[in-house]
Amino acid sequence: MRPVRFNIHPKEAKVADAIGFAEAPPGFSGDGFFTTKLSDVVGLARKNSIWPLPFATSCCGIEFMATMASHYDLARFGAERVGFSPRQCDLLMVMGTIAKKMGPVVKQVYLQMAEPRWVIAVGACASSGGIFDTYSVLQGIDQIIPVDVYVPGCPPRPEAIIDGFMKIQDLIGQESVRRRNTAQYQSLMDGYSIQ
Ligand code: SF4
Repeated sequence: MRPVRFNIHPKEAKVADAIGFAEAPPGFSGDGFFTTKLSDVVGLARKNSIWPLPFATSCCGIEFMATMASHYDLARFGAERVGFSPRQCDLLMVMGTIAKKMGPVVKQVYLQMAEPRWVIAVGACASSGGIFDTYSVLQGIDQIIPVDVYVPGCPPRPEAIIDGFMKIQDLIGQESVRRRNTAQYQSLMDGYSIQ
């Protein structure tokens, strides 16, 4: 039987009795300031406010539904707001088998997203075609759009999807605000014939 994890009648916790708070050292109270890099601040904001666009075509999409639901709760990572308008989203999550006929649609969705945008290939099918090594199935979405993180598995469990999501958060947090203007990024886009 599945264990019950919810405490319906939680005891009142007296935090102040259980934890001692240290006094601030002299000179550290009152208004203060700190220095950091603009990229770090922007990265912090971006990585904790991702708006995912789930592009789910088959079974991996069901795992994503579990990832969004209360038990795994992707909202804990600041990604509460799943969107189905590419123009409002910054993370494309491709989940499922992508037939070659569907390839142009995936690419169009990607093109409609504003920069900066990131992509996760969730599961074996999106990453490499999976078990469908056939004439009709795209052997990995990185043949048509750049992919930032690949999540292995057929299907990947919600833990694996969350792990991939946290990898994307790391990437976003460390990305320079100038990266999208670099020659290297432009050449990546040129490789996919994206202006
Ligand atoms: S990787 Fe496996 S579970 Fe995911 S869409 Fe493909 S066949 Fe289905």
